[in-house]
Amino acid sequence: MIKCVFFDRDGVLIKNYGYLNNISKLKWLNGAINSIKILNKKKIRVIVVTNQSGVARGFFTEQELKKFHSDMNYILEKKKAIIDTFFYCPFHPNGKIKKYKKNSNLRKPGNGMLLKAMKKFKLHPSECAMIGDQKSDYLSAKKTKIYFEYKKNYALDIQINNVLKKFNDK
Ligand SMILES: [Mg+2]
Repeated sequence: MIKCVFFDRDGVLIKNYGYLNNISKLKWLNGAINSIKILNKKKIRVIVVTNQSGVARGFFTEQELKKFHSDMNYILEKKKAIIDTFFYCPFHPNGKIKKYKKNSNLRKPGNGMLLKAMKKFKLHPSECAMIGDQKSDYLSAKKTKIYFEYKKNYALDIQINNVLKKFNDK
């Protein structure tokens, strides 16, 4: 039984502009909102796991990042969808901001965010799937023994329905 889908944020749910933190520029990718809706309806947890080194680099603050995520959910709620939880990694070894300048297993390809989420919500790897668009996403999932797919070039909701089918057929 699938209980949770982990999504990378940039390039999977929303358009990747690089260090985006301006809500007016946010663009949902095709099928992303409907994917979240589908999972919400089935009571499958929707969790974002995102590297946000823009915090370490001084492009935006952690507070601004949190605001961006709550604004994402504000937009989703109007469409009757919700992201249950956001996990983000603000750290980067070459960061400018001292507080965030460090190596961290939270940062993908590390699997700290996945481990944290699984512990918090008592999830087994076999109950989870992850969609990402970078090798670091794949490696993070692989380390955690979580089923992974790269985001396909077609609508995300079609892909999500296929993933759900695969789990049902198991
Ligand atoms: Mg990405």
